[in-house]
Amino acid sequence: MSRAACVVGAGSNGLAAAIVLAQAGVRVDVLEAESTPGGAARTMELTLPGFLHDFGSAVHPLAAGSPFFNSLSLQNHGLDWIHSPAPVAHPLDDGTAVVLERDLNEATVALGEDGRAWANLVQPFVEHWWQFASDVLKPVLSIPKHPLLLARFGMNAFLSAKTIAHRFRSERTRALFAGLAAHSFLALDEPLSGAFGMLMAIPAHAVGWPIPRGGAQSITSALSATLSTLGGTIKTSFRVESLATLSGYDLIFCDLTPRQLLQVAGDRLSKNYQHELKKFRYGPGVFKVDYALSQPIPWKASDCLRAATIHLGGGFDQIAGSEKALRGGQHAERPFVLLSQPTLFDPSRAPAGKHIAWAYCHLPNGSTLDMLPRIEAQIERFAPGFREIVLARRISSPADLETMDANLIGGDIAGGAMDIHQFIFRPTMRHYATSARDIYICSASTPPGGGVHGMCGYHAATTALARLGLPKR
Ligand SMILES: Cc1cc2nc3c(=O)[nH]c(=O)nc-3n(C[C@H](O)[C@H](O)[C@H](O)COP(=O)(O)OP(=O)(O)OC[C@H]3O[C@@H](n4cnc5c(N)ncnc54)[C@H](O)[C@@H]3O)c2cc1C
Repeated sequence: MSRAACVVGAGSNGLAAAIVLAQAGVRVDVLEAESTPGGAARTMELTLPGFLHDFGSAVHPLAAGSPFFNSLSLQNHGLDWIHSPAPVAHPLDDGTAVVLERDLNEATVALGEDGRAWANLVQPFVEHWWQFASDVLKPVLSIPKHPLLLARFGMNAFLSAKTIAHRFRSERTRALFAGLAAHSFLALDEPLSGAFGMLMAIPAHAVGWPIPRGGAQSITSALSATLSTLGGTIKTSFRVESLATLSGYDLIFCDLTPRQLLQVAGDRLSKNYQHELKKFRYGPGVFKVDYALSQPIPWKASDCLRAATIHLGGGFDQIAGSEKALRGGQHAERPFVLLSQPTLFDPSRAPAGKHIAWAYCHLPNGSTLDMLPRIEAQIERFAPGFREIVLARRISSPADLETMDANLIGGDIAGGAMDIHQFIFRPTMRHYATSARDIYICSASTPPGGGVHGMCGYHAATTALARLGLPKR
């Protein structure tokens, strides 16, 4: 008997769920509120004509290392990964930069006295990335296929970044690890923050931190084209206000966060389940700036020109201070800033000789404070003269981000806080299933959480197929 499914939201997870269902022979329609699919994986002219900025995600270790994306032939639909010579650089106040080399042996040499400790931390997972990724990018409480590897990771998983950083002798390596761990939005002395640092470092060596040629939209376009070849459809500029308006579907997948699920599903969900969803906590927000630039950023440390991603924040203690302030609901005076400079490696995204940059810092959820002066002070600290090369800038406050993608509640880019409770029960102990047998949630608010990897959508769809007794392709 043929089945039909509707996916609400064409983010990377919605599209992933749609592809898995279509592969299994289910007829799928995707309904998307915005005028283009992609959610937080879209590329737009946000400043001047011809300057192509990533609205959300810019650098994609987890897309390149996603077991599900890897099972699709996305390169046949135009996805082309570009690797900068080094994944990430971290400038310091002495005018030099710590660079994380992609090749683990080269990194071990470059990190000098800490090379061996670095290799000890990441090597087994780098060498067995695909086995590791298939276990770590799924609900924590599920049965691992590679228990020894996961147990080895588990030995470090609940440690703080501060504890792990104590294994390094050099302040430079500690600073590097702080920048990686600060992607977590956790304080660096909190449990799990160390695991996030490792989860950024491991793919840097295993699959790189690539950027898609043309920007994040290329990932979305490749997923959309894959879905189309399987017969699925995407309808844009279609905001679903209530699931009651959708008829003729056996299954509904919501690429939405819990607050939105409550709004659209309403009484279709049991009172108990609604109560559970209401307890879901959102994480801090981000304040983002996109720049059109007349030339490459004038970094003091020329090594910064080798990496598409730059971490700005100085030493371990300074970055820890920034993230500690955030966890206390404060705005850091000197915030940790993530910056991407894609046009050094992909000139197609700006007019000849011109450049773009993408930068953001963390701030409390929903904050209205203008962080631009603090972000630019951090860039100027390591690249004096930066302000003079700015042709145009576009500021996105948390509210602006949410206006352009309703899932970015209060500027939370990760689909909800990633503390221990929500790491294990995300968004509830049911994970993808809800109290209604035909309704599933498949956004970054489910395991394994934020990032463009499609694994939330993949697991949500396979859960539904298993319940229906339908084989996944
Ligand atoms: C500024 C920023 C920087 C980031 N940087 C990176 C990065 O460098 N690398 C990385 O891997 N990840 C990054 N991320 C995170 C990553 O982009 C997200 O975790 C990922 O895109 C989540 O995918 P999703 O499908 O769960 O949700 P989304 O991409 O948010 O998609 C949800 C979709 O649902 C639609 N929608 C919402 N409500 C409705 C409705 N009622 N009806 C119909 N449609 C609806 C939205 O319009 C949207 O298209 C970043 C995100 C942001 C915002």
